[in-house]
Amino acid sequence: MSPHTGNERQTVTLAAPVRGGCFCGAVRYEASEAPFGSMICHCASCRRIAAAPAVAWVTFRLDGLRFTGAAPRSLESSPGVRRRFCGQCGTQLSYENAQSPHEIDLTTCSLDEPARFAPTHHSWPQHDLPWLRFGDGLPAYPQSRPAGG
Ligand SMILES: [Zn+2]
Ligand SMILES: [Zn+2]
Repeated sequence: MSPHTGNERQTVTLAAPVRGGCFCGAVRYEASEAPFGSMICHCASCRRIAAAPAVAWVTFRLDGLRFTGAAPRSLESSPGVRRRFCGQCGTQLSYENAQSPHEIDLTTCSLDEPARFAPTHHSWPQHDLPWLRFGDGLPAYPQSRPAGG
């Protein structure tokens, strides 16, 4: 269970890898397995680091992901949390939490085909800006999705 996304792990190997990367193209990645979660995070850390009202994430098994091209830079955005980004153009690429060491969240919008994995829920809506409205009818969980939810 990821503390960030609340996703449950379940592995599906893909015929063709999921590919993505940063804005300038220096950092690229590919995942050989399907993501096992897709959500929109409204937490204040995601908002500030992406300078966006909310950030969409897809969760992959870390072993199934490899970075290609330039190595991403990383920072510890809170204790035990590592976020990677392109050192050249600044695109936010991933989130890893020491509490779920086998998982990595990728920013949905860094995927080459971001429409492919639609979000299933929202997390941390209590951090929302008062003017943010989605109206997509998806469930919203106070922090992460509860177990089994
Ligand atoms: Zn870049
Ligand atoms: Zn977040």
